[in-house]
Amino acid sequence: MSDRVPYLTSRLQGFGTTIFAEMSALAQRTGSVNLGQGFPDTDGPGVIAEAAIAAIRAGHNQYPPGIGIPELRHAIADHQRHWYGLDFDPDTEVLVTAGATEAIAASLLALCEEGDEVVTFEPYYDSYAACTAMAGAQRKVVTLHPPDYHFDPAALRAVLTPRARLLLLNSPHNPTGKVFSRSELTTIAEICCEHDLVAVTDEVYEHLVFDGEHLPLATFPGMRDRTVTISSAGKTFSFTGWKIGWVCASPPLLNAVRTVKQFLTYVNGAPFQYAIATALALPDAMIVALGTDLARRRDQLCDGLAAAGFTVFRPAGTYFVTTDIRSLGEDDGMAFCRALPDRCGVVAVPNVVFYDDEEAGRSLVRFTFCKRPEVLDEAIRRLASL
Ligand code: PMP
Ligand code: GLN
Repeated sequence: MSDRVPYLTSRLQGFGTTIFAEMSALAQRTGSVNLGQGFPDTDGPGVIAEAAIAAIRAGHNQYPPGIGIPELRHAIADHQRHWYGLDFDPDTEVLVTAGATEAIAASLLALCEEGDEVVTFEPYYDSYAACTAMAGAQRKVVTLHPPDYHFDPAALRAVLTPRARLLLLNSPHNPTGKVFSRSELTTIAEICCEHDLVAVTDEVYEHLVFDGEHLPLATFPGMRDRTVTISSAGKTFSFTGWKIGWVCASPPLLNAVRTVKQFLTYVNGAPFQYAIATALALPDAMIVALGTDLARRRDQLCDGLAAAGFTVFRPAGTYFVTTDIRSLGEDDGMAFCRALPDRCGVVAVPNVVFYDDEEAGRSLVRFTFCKRPEVLDEAIRRLASL
């Protein structure tokens, strides 16, 4: 826990500034290569940008409908059917949100009573802990173990109490790059059904999978109507600043999430909603190509990090790779990341901030490879001097 922040509610003391903001500021201040915060350094396809410009010119600049424009809701429903065989009614089972971030916040605020327990895997994306706290709920974590980031099903069962309400799953997983397997998802689905848990799934990296395949939890037996499926366009199409996300869920769950969402942002990004409707209807080959291109950069960075002496856990998806720095004779990832800009002009993120069990994450450091190949090469050259 950091120092007490004046005025800030006790529920959120200790959350401070996100590690991504801290590390991006450090990169700017020191002129380092920023492999910390995950945002691409090139724009997504021009056809999508042109669709946004056309929507602005066509006058789509006022509040869109609270649940999102029909064109986008239909495109999202079509996307779920086309890629996963999941049928959602675009009018009652699809909600457009301000990125996945708002969808996660609205889901936790909508679905948790004070004191309910939210089960998730660690390392976990930082907003999960903050939103669980905002909801007045308690976080229960199950640790993923490198090198393959497996979990022990007995450990998952062991954290469940009668107050467990919700299981929050992120696959493909940030920061590890793990893609949960069919057998792991089967176990998770069985446990959700046995314990009558609602699942909230964060699938923002669904199209950034290099090995294996992305399987939405909602496709598993018993899960269709107890899962709140969340995704967003930022990662898939390399427009992270547009903040167009969505929720698919059965009508009662969707209605609960929508009730909260309308008082968070109400709506956002009218012209970008049109552009993402266009994006989701692009040919499969274009969407697949975005991932294939990234796979080459994964290999480039993983090989460079291994050559520089890091222990590399090669990711199956996302645009992050986790490394262990003990092979460099270091063991404190936070100190390492704070010193790295001065030592060699590179910024990374210490995974310890994604753990409750700080020992488990202490020596782990995350790098992103969603940067141009020449930028990755420069970072690799700098890291080789360590
Ligand atoms: N979940 C995970 C796991 C993420 O990595 C991110 C990206 N920052 C988000 C949610 C947030 O997505 P968005 O930018 O669409 O709000
Ligand atoms: N999801 C991005 C990451 O993990 C950062 C998003 C943010 O800054 N909140 O790096």
